[in-house]
Amino acid sequence: MFESLSERLGGVFDRLTKQGALSEDDVRTALREVRVALLEADVSLPVARQFIKAVEKKATGAAVTKSVTPGQQVVKIVHDELIATLAGEGEPGALRIDNAPAPILMVGLQGSGKTTTTAKLAKRLKERDRKKVLMASLDVNRPAAMEQLQILGQQIGVDTLPIVKGEDPVAIAKRAKTQASLGGYDVYMLDTAGRLHIDAELIQQAADVRDVVNPRETLLVVDGLTGQDAVNVATEFDDKIGVSGVVLTRMDGDGRGGAALSMRAITGKPIKFVGLGEKMDALETFEPERVAGRILG
Ligand code: GDP
Repeated sequence: MFESLSERLGGVFDRLTKQGALSEDDVRTALREVRVALLEADVSLPVARQFIKAVEKKATGAAVTKSVTPGQQVVKIVHDELIATLAGEGEPGALRIDNAPAPILMVGLQGSGKTTTTAKLAKRLKERDRKKVLMASLDVNRPAAMEQLQILGQQIGVDTLPIVKGEDPVAIAKRAKTQASLGGYDVYMLDTAGRLHIDAELIQQAADVRDVVNPRETLLVVDGLTGQDAVNVATEFDDKIGVSGVVLTRMDGDGRGGAALSMRAITGKPIKFVGLGEKMDALETFEPERVAGRILG
C-alpha cells in the first residue's frame, strides 16, 4: 500500500532533513514536490491543495526547536496533517452493533470485494468480538454470488441464511431479521446486490432494504485501486443511500493509495477497514497513524 507515494515523499524528506536550516523557499519547493507526489498517487486536486496549504501555514509559523532540524519539523507537520486528513472519529474499526440483533448493510459495486469483505468482517466479529453472526446474500440476480457467500460461511464457520429461490431482496432481508431475532444472533449482515455501475434499480433496492431493517452500519466496499473513482462512488452511494463507513479493498496491491487520503476529506466518511488480500484474515482496521507512517516511509 502507498508504495509510490512513500518512496516519493521519502526522497523529498531525505533531501530536506539533510540540510541544516530551511528557508521559506526550501519549504515551498519541498511542498511542491509533495503536492506532485500526492497528485500522482491520485489524491484529488482540492484535497492535495488543502493539504499543502495547511502544512505550509503550520511549517512557516512553527518555531523550530533545538532538538530537531527544520526538515524534521516539516516532516512531523506533514505526518500530523496526514493523520488529521485520514482520521475519523472514534476508535478505528469500531462498529455500532450494541443492540442485538444489529443489522449491517454491505453495499458496493460488483467486483469491489463486497462478498469477500462481508465474510472477512463476519469472521472478525465472530473471533475477536465473540459475536454470533448471520450472513445473508440479497443478490438475487446472481445465484453464484449467493452461493459464494454460503461457501465462505462454511469456510469460516459463520451461519448463512438458507437460500430460497424466487425471493426478492426485501423478503430476504425481512427473513434475515426474523431469523436473527429468533436465533439469538448479535449481528446480521446483508450482502446487497452489486452492479458494475451505480444505477437507479441498484440504489432503489438498497434503499428498500435499508428502510426495512434500519441498519446500524451501512458499510460501503470500494476498490482502493480505483483512486478517485472510489471517492466518486462513495459520494454517490452516500448521497443516495447514506453510508456510515467505508472499507477500502485491494490495499495489498501496488495501487497509488490516493483514495484513502481523499476519501475522508471529500466524503466526510471514515474508512473503517482495509482489505489486504483474498484470504479471510486479510482485513485490518484502518489506522491513520500506521498509514501516515507508511506514506512517509
Ligand atoms: P463482489 O462482486 O464485490 O462481491 O466481489 P468479491 O467479493 O467476489 O471479490 C472479487 C475478487 O476480489 C475476488 O477474487 C476476491 O478474492 C478479490 N478480493 C476481495 N478483496 C480483496 C483484497 O482486499 N485484496 C485482493 N488482492 N483481492 C481481493
